[in-house]
Amino acid sequence: MDGKLAIIGLGSIGSMALWQASHLTGSVTGFEAHAPAHARSAVGGDTRLFRMLYRGSPNLYPILQRSRTLWAELEAETGQNILTRTGGLSIGTKDGPYLTALLQTTNTNGADHVILSREEMAERYPQHNLRPDDSAVFDPNAGALRTDRAVTAAVGAAEANGATIHTNTPIDSITETGDGVLITSGENAWTFETVIVASGGWSRRLMPDYLQKAAEPYRIYLTWFVAKDAAEFSPERFPVFSRISGDRSMYGAPSVDGVTVKATLDGRGAPTPQPDSVPRGLTAAEISETMDTVTEFFPGLLPNIVRSDAFPDLFTSDRQPLIGHLNEGSKIYFATGFSGGGFKNATGYGEIAAHEALGKGSFDGLDFLRPQRFKSFHATIPKR
Ligand SMILES: Cc1cc2nc3c(=O)[nH]c(=O)nc-3n(C[C@H](O)[C@H](O)[C@H](O)COP(=O)(O)OP(=O)(O)OC[C@H]3O[C@@H](n4cnc5c(N)ncnc54)[C@H](O)[C@@H]3O)c2cc1C
Repeated sequence: MDGKLAIIGLGSIGSMALWQASHLTGSVTGFEAHAPAHARSAVGGDTRLFRMLYRGSPNLYPILQRSRTLWAELEAETGQNILTRTGGLSIGTKDGPYLTALLQTTNTNGADHVILSREEMAERYPQHNLRPDDSAVFDPNAGALRTDRAVTAAVGAAEANGATIHTNTPIDSITETGDGVLITSGENAWTFETVIVASGGWSRRLMPDYLQKAAEPYRIYLTWFVAKDAAEFSPERFPVFSRISGDRSMYGAPSVDGVTVKATLDGRGAPTPQPDSVPRGLTAAEISETMDTVTEFFPGLLPNIVRSDAFPDLFTSDRQPLIGHLNEGSKIYFATGFSGGGFKNATGYGEIAAHEALGKGSFDGLDFLRPQRFKSFHATIPKR
């Protein structure tokens, strides 16, 4: 036996699981195909939005609350500034479907928020060119997560706590044996008591058939613009935002380099066959829609795309993550399938995965995240 726990993939979630596990055991080993926070993983692109206001399942809210606490703990343990608290704006047509759904979830969760009229919004945040029927909701707890710093800080803290790391070590296979899990990379093999698979867009390669059918790598792209006056788009003055006004949508974050501002069309993830070679260039249609939207939404940005990139993430067919053991009693635990929204909760998901995989407790109310939901789904499809 080579140790208690192995974590395959030290990206967004694997790094946090490693950090959390390093508080629970002196025997945790991380395997990463390249290097933690490498630029072709879902860590790429500098920042991710952290927002407490969202549309969707209220069941996720406790994980979000816990994640927020854990981001602060990671900052305290490592001395790194990871979550820049900028506040957040959700902007949309007043009483339209976006803000109505967001406020419904927000009221159920009891999350702090402030509703801003069009006039208040225009006065406080003149960077946004509003439509006549737009209004907004302010999230005082939102901010921008610095992804590369978060992942390297978590891995560094885990190593300081005694974790072992193997970089440039892609795992080829995982096999449950009588007393543990055998994992291989080329000629090398190790056996651990239990294994967490956190290999993001690449996870299908290590999945049983029933999960492969429910998961697919997606390409998500990002675009950046130069501000005419960089101070207007600094973290102090420009909260992270998500906007759906009529037929146009965009989300983004303030400048982290003092020059460029991230502003990207929302909901444009699309299947991509190979996570290793996600097309990084934008199509003519993507470029023109992005430029048209920036031209309308942000008169203070030059509308030319000065930087763009694209990254893989694993999407599930119901757009909820896969968190849990493969089966009851299995020693293989999956933490993947974050479907374009996992980073804000990476610390919370990492804590759940580390505790459950090590048998240090289980978390209730997470049936909607468990891998088995796809097993029963397929089993109950009526035969024709
Ligand atoms: C462009 C973009 C914008 C996004 N915006 C937001 C946002 O604003 N807010 C938000 O909350 N979420 C956002 N997301 C989603 C979030 O970033 C992802 O859900 C999350 O980062 C996925 O993390 P992961 O750990 O599953 O994958 P990754 O971070 O990609 O980590 C997987 C790691 O596993 C390694 N690996 C793969 N196979 C193997 C193997 N066989 N052996 C060893 N290592 C292996 C990879 O090299 C990689 O390092 C966005 C995603 C993208 C792509």
